[in-house]
Amino acid sequence: MSKNEKSLVRVDSLSKSFGTLEVLSGIDLDVKSGEVLAIIGPSGSGKSTLLRCLNFLETPDSGAIEVADVRIDAQNHPSQREILQLRRMAGMVFQSFNLFPHMTVLENVSFAQKRVAGKSQAEADARSIELLRRVGLEAKAAEYPHRCSGGQQQRIAIARALALNPKVMLFDEPTSALDPELGLEVLSVMRELADEGMTMIVVTHEMHFAESVSDHVMIMADGKIIEYGPSAEIMRNPQTERAQRFLHAVR
Ligand code: ADP
Ligand code: MG
Repeated sequence: MSKNEKSLVRVDSLSKSFGTLEVLSGIDLDVKSGEVLAIIGPSGSGKSTLLRCLNFLETPDSGAIEVADVRIDAQNHPSQREILQLRRMAGMVFQSFNLFPHMTVLENVSFAQKRVAGKSQAEADARSIELLRRVGLEAKAAEYPHRCSGGQQQRIAIARALALNPKVMLFDEPTSALDPELGLEVLSVMRELADEGMTMIVVTHEMHFAESVSDHVMIMADGKIIEYGPSAEIMRNPQTERAQRFLHAVR
């Protein structure tokens, strides 16, 4: 494995509450360039909230987040400009695809390139076709999302997230809304991305993916990290009783 040692994503003492419910308590994270981190854990443990805090879709109460060269300290009341800078660094893929239903597949992938990156229509479309080819869906460019299968829609969402050349890709249970077979085509695109050296943080319930694709695994419970380490070690030999119980239940 040829991994660059520089940290690409860092989280320091991140905390977040919704009302009186503390959902994340003092989370630290360090992801190197080119690394794949899988985050697993029981429902309600704070995985989605953590991922959403990474690009300020949720505002953390305290702590700092750093992606590439953009660092934001939650206590310093970041400006919208700083938040947009941070978001440019991270591409996000959700469980529910979230494609724009009134746009064609091509327009879905081109939209932000024109709006955010200021590309011309022709430049954006050329790049979109290249990305659609990469996820095996060049032939669907002129279709509307509802004419595509769930697996295809998720691969389009991946192409769209890649369109602004993010430094890291964030995935929140990208296959959990899909039939197993359609999930596999999405997982195979994700595996290719990982092989190409993309830095990825993947919240997943796919234990095989966590074990075979990710470099590190983090297990969360009740807003805390209860296990973290090399994936084979964590998946085969978890130390805490809570993690053992979770892994036993999902396998
Ligand atoms: P996971 O992704 O691990 O299932 P979440 O991060 O979605 O967990 O949720 C963690 C906890 O935070 C849950 O108890 C959930 O109900 C609560 N929660 C998440 N989002 C909100 C919100 N916007 N408002 C209030 N509570 C929330
Ligand atoms: Mg979730």
